[in-house]
Amino acid sequence: MKIMLKTAKQQCNCDIQPMLEVARRSHNRYLARMKNVDTLMHARWVIPVTADNPRLHHHSIAVHDGSIVDILPTADALQQYAAQATFDYSAHALIPGLINAHTHAAMSLFRGLADDIALMDWLQKHIWPAEAKWVNEEFVQTGTELAVAEMLRSGTTCFNDMYFFPDVTGRVAHKAGIRACVGLIVIDFPTVWAGNADEYLDKGIAVHDSFRNDDLITTCFAPHAPYTVSDAPLEKIRSYSHEMDIPVTIHLHETAHEIDEAVQKSGMRPLQRLNSIGLVSPALLAVHMTQLESAEIELLATSGSHVVHCPESNLKLASGFCPVSALLDAGVNVALGTDGGASNNDLDMFGEMRTAALLAKGVAGNPEALPAEVALRMATINGARALGLDGKTGSLEAGKEADIVAVKFDTIETTPVYDPVSHLVYSCGREQVSDVWIAGRHVMKNRVLTQLDETDIRLQAQAWSRKIETEDN
Ligand SMILES: [Zn+2]
Repeated sequence: MKIMLKTAKQQCNCDIQPMLEVARRSHNRYLARMKNVDTLMHARWVIPVTADNPRLHHHSIAVHDGSIVDILPTADALQQYAAQATFDYSAHALIPGLINAHTHAAMSLFRGLADDIALMDWLQKHIWPAEAKWVNEEFVQTGTELAVAEMLRSGTTCFNDMYFFPDVTGRVAHKAGIRACVGLIVIDFPTVWAGNADEYLDKGIAVHDSFRNDDLITTCFAPHAPYTVSDAPLEKIRSYSHEMDIPVTIHLHETAHEIDEAVQKSGMRPLQRLNSIGLVSPALLAVHMTQLESAEIELLATSGSHVVHCPESNLKLASGFCPVSALLDAGVNVALGTDGGASNNDLDMFGEMRTAALLAKGVAGNPEALPAEVALRMATINGARALGLDGKTGSLEAGKEADIVAVKFDTIETTPVYDPVSHLVYSCGREQVSDVWIAGRHVMKNRVLTQLDETDIRLQAQAWSRKIETEDN
């Protein structure tokens, strides 16, 4: 019996060594074939927001050096990629980071200060006096940190801003790791930022130069509105924007009152006036556009201008309804924005997508007017295109930077899932965003911001509100 066992063992040793060697060599060959990447994300769904709006089931995204290198079925990803870090999103949809194409970040400190009144009363009686009294570098620093923290927690990875101290806005965005197009504000009247239009322009160009080599921060000219900026600075903006190859964002045709006043003053509707100055071009981001005639929609389409639709701000201020469906049908690129925290009163692009979709159906009298996948495009790739950033962000594609948002769907509120895109627009809330990456950096991890101190931001913002409340009462 003993002898038999020993023999069996010896035979076993003799047979297994070559087998192990074969397995080891085969494993090494397998490892040699594996490509090394920084990050591999395995998801239940990947919604890349590319042509034909695919929903990719059980796919993975490979990220290296901040960029997406591959999107492929998870079974293939496991065979082809070895990652430093792997994330399991088996109950999630991975979507492109959302792009808020119009906001005034620092105004989050005025959230809830004055509600339920018309635009001009809101501006003239409340916002402009409060800004004259309170806005300074520290205000913009805290207000922008508050806004950026809210935007990141809502899945926004890029925002187009218009406010005073754009240098501070850019620095806060850089520190937070969020992409920003910082608006170089221009307005005829003096503020704490600049004394006259030329000074706004000079300071704006200096801000542009200071961020020239920043990977996350770009700039645009941001003349406030046709009724607050005269022809001479608008003409300068046209030529500087052309020379510097940066966009121009302006509030335009926000209310019927704006049009009536402009016609009385100049005999021209504001869009016509901007066109006569040469500003209606592919560089133009026309924000609001609630008052549009069919010839104007045609002009926007043929000129390649972009419209930024801010449905919740327009509804709250009863400004009017942007004819989104007609604009899209004409071929105009329409992006989405929240506007500032004082006129919305949140910076929630999920809410904005839903409102845009519902409102467009109501305005057009047609439930097919703005399908969910179009609302998602407006909040992602259309925003990137308007800002000239569609080569970098706005969709999930190999070669683009890894601006990726994970949305968790295994909640009561989003069960069951027949179509994840439907849920993104019609069912889920921003609190279902679990993780956010920008240029491959993990800026929100399981709902905790990694670059900003949320408690500190809340305390600083509360201190500002106490000051504003005490001195204004
Ligand atoms: Zn605005």
